[in-house]
Amino acid sequence: MQLIWLRSDLRIDDNTALSAACERGPTVAVWIVSPGQWRAHDDAPCKVDFWLRNLRELQQSLGKLNIPLLIRKVDTWDKVPKALLKLCRELKIEAVHWNDEYGVNETVRDETTRDLLKASGIGAHSYLDQLLFAPGTLLTRNGHYYQVFGQFRRACHEHLHRSLPAMAPQVHRQAPVPVDSDAVPEHIQGFASPAQSLRDLWPAGEQEAQRRLQTFIDEDVDDYLHQRDFPAEPGTSQLSAYLAAGVISPRQCLHAAMSNNRGEFDGGSSGVQTWVNELLWREFYKHILVGYPQVSRHRAFRSHTEALPWRDAPEELKAWEEGRTGFPLIDAAMRQLLATGWMHNRLRMVVAMFLTKNLLIDWRLGERHFMRHLIDGDLAANNGGWQWSASTGTDSVPYFRIFNPVTQSQRFDAKGVFIRQWIPELAAVDKKVIHSPASKAAGSSGCPYHQQIVDLGESRQRALEAFKSLSA
Ligand code: FAD
Repeated sequence: MQLIWLRSDLRIDDNTALSAACERGPTVAVWIVSPGQWRAHDDAPCKVDFWLRNLRELQQSLGKLNIPLLIRKVDTWDKVPKALLKLCRELKIEAVHWNDEYGVNETVRDETTRDLLKASGIGAHSYLDQLLFAPGTLLTRNGHYYQVFGQFRRACHEHLHRSLPAMAPQVHRQAPVPVDSDAVPEHIQGFASPAQSLRDLWPAGEQEAQRRLQTFIDEDVDDYLHQRDFPAEPGTSQLSAYLAAGVISPRQCLHAAMSNNRGEFDGGSSGVQTWVNELLWREFYKHILVGYPQVSRHRAFRSHTEALPWRDAPEELKAWEEGRTGFPLIDAAMRQLLATGWMHNRLRMVVAMFLTKNLLIDWRLGERHFMRHLIDGDLAANNGGWQWSASTGTDSVPYFRIFNPVTQSQRFDAKGVFIRQWIPELAAVDKKVIHSPASKAAGSSGCPYHQQIVDLGESRQRALEAFKSLSA
């Protein structure tokens, strides 16, 4: 009997490890609940709930293939190797199969599991699945991991021009095996269930993920280049939660995009090109995580930026977290995060830059708050995005290019539609005033709103000086 150890690959179609296990013989699946580890990783309750909801869907689909799904529980990942070995012995498992995950703790967990299984005479097979290219297979001429996205992208394109990564073979129904499935828990202690309104935004299951992909490709991708920066528009795929949990694969996304563009990367629809680019950013940050593991240990990619004089300002941090900075675009974005578990990409950059530049608060505190609330929370992308915005990362924004939240608001939410959606107290405010209602410029037409917690000009200057002092 074969065992597929499911992790962030909660789907049946195009699941490399599942296909490989099933090709070898009768297969059983297992999922390991590990609340202590999830807490240590700041995994958001809504993300844990999303995993459970997807597992329930997956259990139904696996059931149709006669593949039972077992649930095991350990607190932290150091207990995983023994728990798996015990299960293998109970079920007389020949080999365990899993899809690679990246990150320091993930790697230690998988290597110790592999060693223990092998020493016990049980096979252990891992597969590339979460990415298009295995980390380490795309390197510079000097054999280093790429640090510049443009160069990394060119290397990806060279490979993709030759061939697209193939999908995993379809899994067929197996003969029933004498193993009963376990019930998927409704809820894990310590991770509060999210509001039904949040759940409704992110229905579980592969079918839903495929529906989103198809709708996006059919209706939105061609306008992606022009629409993706406007938070009030449904211009992006909203697939990140499904990609992070592996309910859909990047190969499926890439194939769908390419088939809509006659297989072209450099020509055809500019929307498709731009969207594939975003999939490659996802790829890039995961390669960075492997090539430069300090980033998964809370270290800055550019080590000299560790000397930045970050401010200890708990009240300002709290105002930012709760969406009451006095800057409506920032506040609306932060409220969107709390209510939906998701935030539009343009706003992630704007709020991250506001925290790290205007408030000069350590990016790690923002990274953690995001992780604790994002349904698509992903160490590589989140860390990459934060370090990009804080100018501490690889290929990040130059420190002197500081977004102004008021002009960003005027540009990307000109009519204030997004702001009004999230800040009802500003619903009736004129579009000229809504971007900065508490500022002096709003004058007597300004409405009562939170005082701005910081002066944009002065705080910009303070950030520039802090960064300049690094090279002095
Ligand atoms: P689309 O625009 O439709 O893009 C398609 C897919 O490409 C996304 O689903 C995502 O998987 C990937 N992608 C897009 N942009 C990026 C990017 N800049 N970096 C890496 N992958 C990208 N993305 C996460 O998946 N998890 C995170 O925890 C996360 N944290 C972020 C934190 C900050 C500060 C910033 C600036 C960005 C972060 N991102 C993160 C990237 C991006 O904001 C989201 O992937 C995107 O908003 C998800 O919406 P979508 O699925 O509609 O994306």
